[in-house]
Amino acid sequence: MSEAFVDAARQAGFPCNSDFNGANQEGVGYFHLNIKNGRRFGAADAYLKPAMTRQNLTVFTDAQVKKVVFEGKRSVAVELRHKGRDRVLRANREIILSGGAINSPQLLQLSGIGDRDILENLGIRCLHELPGVGKNLQEHVDACVLVSSRKNSGFTASFGGLLKMLPDTIRYFLSKRGKLAKSITEAGGFIKSSDSVNRPDVQLHMLPLLFDDSGRDLKLMSNPGYSVHVCVLRPKSSGTVTITSADPFAAPEIDYNFFADPDDCKVMVDGIRQARRILAAKAFDDYRGEELHPGADRQSDEQIIEKVKEKVGLVYHPVGTCKMGTDRMAVVDPQLRVHGLEGLRVVDASIMPRLISGNTNAPTIAIAEKAADMILEKAEGCDI
Ligand SMILES: Cc1cc2nc3c(=O)[nH]c(=O)nc-3n(C[C@H](O)[C@H](O)[C@H](O)COP(=O)(O)OP(=O)(O)OC[C@H]3O[C@@H](n4cnc5c(N)ncnc54)[C@H](O)[C@@H]3O)c2cc1C
Repeated sequence: MSEAFVDAARQAGFPCNSDFNGANQEGVGYFHLNIKNGRRFGAADAYLKPAMTRQNLTVFTDAQVKKVVFEGKRSVAVELRHKGRDRVLRANREIILSGGAINSPQLLQLSGIGDRDILENLGIRCLHELPGVGKNLQEHVDACVLVSSRKNSGFTASFGGLLKMLPDTIRYFLSKRGKLAKSITEAGGFIKSSDSVNRPDVQLHMLPLLFDDSGRDLKLMSNPGYSVHVCVLRPKSSGTVTITSADPFAAPEIDYNFFADPDDCKVMVDGIRQARRILAAKAFDDYRGEELHPGADRQSDEQIIEKVKEKVGLVYHPVGTCKMGTDRMAVVDPQLRVHGLEGLRVVDASIMPRLISGNTNAPTIAIAEKAADMILEKAEGCDI
């Protein structure tokens, strides 16, 4: 089905691209994947595990940091709950927050860093006012075109579908090869939503199953079908992450504010139309059943966006809530040090000022690599 998608896109007039990370991003093709020996090879595998034997590294698991402790404007320790026990860890040199775009701003707010009104309303003393903490939340807002299939060649979450996967499951456990050693999202593309834009503003993810609501809709998924997910690559809408309590174990409020900017609606509607063009091409003739979502009867901009909003999704790419910069709303400076404070950096996806036009894992690793260089230079006495 992934091959059908690439063929269909070519038939519909979209360029093919064998390397989205090469000189030109535009086109359809296959994604690069972080897979080694049949498993996703994450940052822990690549960076942490090889360093675990070092004398100067201690990893606490089942631990949650509650706040950063300050002496004046200098961060000196973190308070944490570790295996049910409260502890304080002091820092000799500096503290690096890498809680991600949801939890790094949460931790700063819990520590008294952020928008004064929000903090004081919750009874938290504002140690340092930084109004940008938790603002500027950006994410790839996503919607799908779901089509039922006349051929049962993709994945289904039904008993029969799972049984059909048995040979692949055995093969995977014996050799770490085959379908299960790949990604369910092999094919996709970066396309222009219309001729009026000069570079791709939409990403497509093709899935050989009826995948909606982050895979929670098992009833839908038990039927044969396929999905093309359409996401807005550079959304203009932005939202917020805000603590709702001084309790570090309470979840913050996450408001993506999707589609607040009408331009995002336009890109999404045009992107859905482009996905439909691909799905209508000859390569899908043997598969094509009924368009289940948004539904073939939904053709006008208003009808499409209304339906999209019923099932709006995301690509798990939150960024921007501790943005790097030098303006009033910036949280960290170009060396990722929190503005106005000493001994505290943020190193994760939250520091991206703008959401990048692609998946966020590799860019976050690039941020971490760059930060490591900057921290080492500082440790070695260079004034940067
Ligand atoms: C389901 C899913 C699928 C994804 N798929 C892809 C993909 O295919 N390709 C891609 O490029 N990107 C993908 N991403 C996005 C990618 O994973 C993120 O962009 C990247 O992990 C961001 O890194 P980070 O360091 O900013 O945050 P994270 O990776 O979220 O790391 C933050 C860490 O901090 C820990 N933490 C948070 N708060 C605390 C606290 N108070 N105390 C202690 N620890 C804390 C968290 O447990 C977590 O381990 C996906 C994300 C998700 C959720």
